[in-house]
Amino acid sequence: MSLNQYALNEDQRQIQDLIRRVAREKVAPRADEIDRTAEYPHDMFEMLKQLGLFALPFPEQYGGAGSMLSACLAIEEFGRICYNTAYLLLVQWVPFGAILHGGTEDQKQRLLPGLASGDLRGAFSTTEAQSGSDVSSIKSRAEKVADGYLLNGSKIWCTNSDIADFILVAARYREGDTDGISLFIVEKGSKGLEVGPKEDKMGARGVPSCPLFFDNVLIPEKNKLGGGFKSVMQAFNASRPLIGARAVGLSQGALDHAIEFVKNRSAFGQQVSDFQGVRWMLADMAMQTEAARHLVYRAASLVDANAPATELAQVAAMAKCVATDTAMKVATDAVQLFGAAGISSEYPINRYFRDAKVLQIIEGTNQIQRNIISNGLLGRPPKK
Ligand SMILES: Cc1cc2nc3c(=O)[nH]c(=O)nc-3n(C[C@H](O)[C@H](O)[C@H](O)COP(=O)(O)OP(=O)(O)OC[C@H]3O[C@@H](n4cnc5c(N)ncnc54)[C@H](O)[C@@H]3O)c2cc1C
Repeated sequence: MSLNQYALNEDQRQIQDLIRRVAREKVAPRADEIDRTAEYPHDMFEMLKQLGLFALPFPEQYGGAGSMLSACLAIEEFGRICYNTAYLLLVQWVPFGAILHGGTEDQKQRLLPGLASGDLRGAFSTTEAQSGSDVSSIKSRAEKVADGYLLNGSKIWCTNSDIADFILVAARYREGDTDGISLFIVEKGSKGLEVGPKEDKMGARGVPSCPLFFDNVLIPEKNKLGGGFKSVMQAFNASRPLIGARAVGLSQGALDHAIEFVKNRSAFGQQVSDFQGVRWMLADMAMQTEAARHLVYRAASLVDANAPATELAQVAAMAKCVATDTAMKVATDAVQLFGAAGISSEYPINRYFRDAKVLQIIEGTNQIQRNIISNGLLGRPPKK
C-alpha cells in the first residue's frame, strides 16, 4: 500500500461493525454512570480484554494484530459512545509504544504480551508540577548506584497509575540536554513509590489521574529503557493518531445526539431541524468530522507502513490537532443546538463537551502540535 493512501480491509470493517454493536449494547448503558461516579470501570476493562481488543496495534510477535488503523477504528467507535471506555484502550497503548520503540528485547518479551492480552496494565508518566509541555526541564532524578538506579522526585497527572502493574517514568540520569533523560519501569508496590489521591477532573473522569512520589525507589538496571527521550517522542508519534481517533468518535457521537435532539424539538411551529441555520450547522459538523477522520486514518496508515519518523511526526501532529480542535468545535455546537438542555446533566451532551476539552491538552497541547508542524515546515530542530 502506498504511504499516501489507506483503505479499510474486510477484517477492519468487521472490527468496526462488531465494536459499533458492542458499544451500543454494552457500553452505552454505562457511559453516563462512569462519568458521574468517576469510578474506574472494571467491567468495561474485562469486556475489552475478553474481546481481545488490547492486542490490536501490537506486532504479531508480541501477541498482537499489528494494525494501528484497526486500533483507531476501535477507539473511534467506543469514543462515539463513551470517552472513558475508549480511554481504557488508549492508556494501555501509550506505554506500549514507548517499550516498542525504546525497550530492550528482554523488556519487550516481559511486558508487551501482557499489555496485548490485558493481563498487565501500564501507565506513562512525564508531567511534573513545573514541567508539562517542556519535558526537558523535568526534575525527577535517577542516580546510578551499584545495583541499578535510585529514583527521587514527583510527578502529577499520571493516568491509570493507581491501577497499573507498572509505570514508565521519565527521569534525568545524566545532566545536559534531553539525551540525559530516560524512561524507567517502576513496578507496582516498589518500596518508596507512593501514588497520591486522584484528581477531581472536569472530563475523562472514569480513568483516574494521580500524583506520584518517589523516595529512593531502587530501579534495577534491566528496568531502564534504552531509547531515552527519543523513544518518548516516537511513542507520542504513534499514539497521537489514537487521540485523534478518540476525538473523531467524540465528534460523531456529539453530532448523533444533536441530530436526534433537533429532530424531536419544535420552535415557532416547526421542527428545529427545519431551520436553515440549524441544518447548515449540522452540515458543517459532519464535514469537519469527516475531514478529521480521513487525516486520522492516514496518520494511522503511516504508522502501519513504518513511515519515516519526520513524515509521521508531521502527519500525526496534524491529525491530533485537527481532530481534537474539531471535537471541541462540534461538541460546542452540539450543546448550542440543545439549548438549555445542553447545560443540564439530564442529557449526555455536556459530557461530550467536557471530555472534548481534555483532548486539546493531553499528549502535547495543540499549541505544541502547531510548533511541531511549523518546525517541520521551516526545517527547524524539533525542540520548542
Ligand atoms: C486528563 C489528563 C490526563 C493526563 N494524563 C497524563 C499521563 O498519563 N501522563 C503524563 O505524563 N501526563 C498526563 N497529563 C498531563 C499532560 O500531558 C499535560 O497537562 C500537558 O502536556 C500540558 O502540560 P501542562 O499542563 O504543564 O501545561 P504547560 O506546559 O504549563 O502549558 C501551559 C500553556 O502554555 C502553552 N505552551 C507551553 N509551551 C508552549 C510553547 N512552546 N509554545 C506555545 N504554547 C506553549 C500550552 O499549550 C498551554 O496552553 C494529563 C493531563 C490531563 C488533563
